[in-house]
Amino acid sequence: MDWADELAASVEGPQVVNDSKTPSGTVHVGSLRGPVILDVITRALRARGLEATLLYGVDDMDPMDAQALLSPDAIEREMGRPLAHVPDPAGDCHPSYARHFAGIFIDTFDGLGIRPDRYYWMSDIYPTGQMDPYIRTALDRAAVVRDVYRRVANVQHPDHWLPLGVVCPSCGKVGTTIASDWDGETVAVHCRPDLVAWAVGCGWQGRLSPFGGAAKLPWNLEWAAQWSLFGVTIEPNGKDLATAGGSRDRSNAIAREVFEREPPLNLPYEFLNIGGKKMSTSKGRGAAAHTIGAVLPPEQLRFLFVRSRPETAIEFDPEGTDAVPRVFDEFDRLAAATAGREVKGELPSGHESIFRYSLLDADADVARAAGAFRPAFAHLSLLVQVPGVDVPARVAAEKGAPLTPQETAELDIRLGAVHRWLEAYAPERARIEIQREGVPVGAEQLRPEQRGFLRALAETAHGDVPSTGEQWQAAIFAVAADQGIDAKAAFNALYLAFLGRPNGPRAGWLLASLERSFVTGRLRAAGSPATSEEATS
Ligand SMILES: [Zn+2]
Ligand SMILES: [Zn+2]
Repeated sequence: MDWADELAASVEGPQVVNDSKTPSGTVHVGSLRGPVILDVITRALRARGLEATLLYGVDDMDPMDAQALLSPDAIEREMGRPLAHVPDPAGDCHPSYARHFAGIFIDTFDGLGIRPDRYYWMSDIYPTGQMDPYIRTALDRAAVVRDVYRRVANVQHPDHWLPLGVVCPSCGKVGTTIASDWDGETVAVHCRPDLVAWAVGCGWQGRLSPFGGAAKLPWNLEWAAQWSLFGVTIEPNGKDLATAGGSRDRSNAIAREVFEREPPLNLPYEFLNIGGKKMSTSKGRGAAAHTIGAVLPPEQLRFLFVRSRPETAIEFDPEGTDAVPRVFDEFDRLAAATAGREVKGELPSGHESIFRYSLLDADADVARAAGAFRPAFAHLSLLVQVPGVDVPARVAAEKGAPLTPQETAELDIRLGAVHRWLEAYAPERARIEIQREGVPVGAEQLRPEQRGFLRALAETAHGDVPSTGEQWQAAIFAVAADQGIDAKAAFNALYLAFLGRPNGPRAGWLLASLERSFVTGRLRAAGSPATSEEATS
């Protein structure tokens, strides 16, 4: 079983899976791990026959506390206001800052096959009064809340402190107000200029009712209240929130002690590290979701997240490496195994589920998807670099039948990724230029035994007719062994003969991408004894 099926097997009855996010700015591809994990859990629950609802919430009543994306004149006015009330920094394309950034993030969900049953916005929820019972409970039990903070997080709030963020009726800021003296109907509010370092309150003081959208709960309480309000049973969160005494511990304790409800099942997930650096939203570091998305299409991106257990950090370093082709290769290997074909190497536990949950369409015909013809990424990356190759025709010839519409569509997506990879990420050895005009100058360095190998390979190619990359690769090893030269020298000879340099991509695939007549002609020409050797022998 894979991790999602394991989790699904451990629960009973209808399930509500929830995630929520503060839309504070641009998001990076690592932020998609959570939504993919939630979607996969929901699919696994449904596959087990359980009723499952997937919710995605936007915590847009949180205060604006990062000024990086504000214009200088907006900083004093907007810092500390709810994100839902801050204007869209990109102009008038969305009703608010929150809608802009959450919108960009949510737009990527659909492309990844993530379809929450419901999106909720806290700025919509508070005015309906649905949060009022939780606000009342939190105020009535403020002493318990303070005690939880003290015990769980070692945070000591003064005795008059109330767990409430009032939206200042004068300046509209929520990050600058402090509430006290709950009398069952109203609280005393002070909007303090010096409460936080990142925003300046207006000084307003007075009493008001905290209900109907006039105030919000602090985040730990809001989170716990969401669990009660929506009946959440499963909510995985990032490892950063799962530290001892951290956000999840606080919210769990508040759920139990203040709202008297067991918190949802957690499945803390680790980060996606790109190029060894933690992908962090707040530090603005790492690859933006759309950048990685260009080179890892949706199914491979889902696969990247699904194949690793959530508690495992994913190290993904696409820069100048084969990390991208390796994701495709592993995807193809699990597809082949799912289709019942024999594959090399060990298979991960639950490999069929891993493949199934990587598919965009939750209702896809898995057997059909698994059986589709998929040319290897590395093979395509050579084919596109050989001038004059009709790649789709070539792929169909290798399949031995016309491509299905689904295969054609997948090939187009894969070719897009191949081109982006070659442009932006591929190591130098993956970029080739076939030396068409004649035996390249570099081939002068070929040693006599390497030339012998090339001539022998030309004869084999003539006889055994290798055509696929694997067959060529096998032929290279066989002929090298037969000729008594090591594989490294054999590959080196091929690179010199075709590329004029001592290294290159997998040679079998390189030869498979070229026309046979050109290959045999070049093997013979480069393998013929060098003039200089004839002169000295
Ligand atoms: Zn916008
Ligand atoms: Zn104010």
